[in-house]
Amino acid sequence: MAIPEYARNVLPHRRVRILCRGVCGVPRHAEASKDNWLRTEDAVTTGLYATCLKCGYQARDNYNWDRLNS
Ligand SMILES: [Zn+2]
Repeated sequence: MAIPEYARNVLPHRRVRILCRGVCGVPRHAEASKDNWLRTEDAVTTGLYATCLKCGYQARDNYNWDRLNS
């Protein structure tokens, strides 16, 4: 999958795709706040979030994220 221009500076292992519920309102590439996060962890208690690389929205619905490692 091609990486869009706005997401090129993110480390590959931190890249995720989220549904941005901020300004964008569409699926966007985002940066996870830490390595080795799990879909099953509770983002609120572990401090995990993903930042939309377009608008800066912070998502905590990690059970919905897709890894974009390549
Ligand atoms: Zn956004």
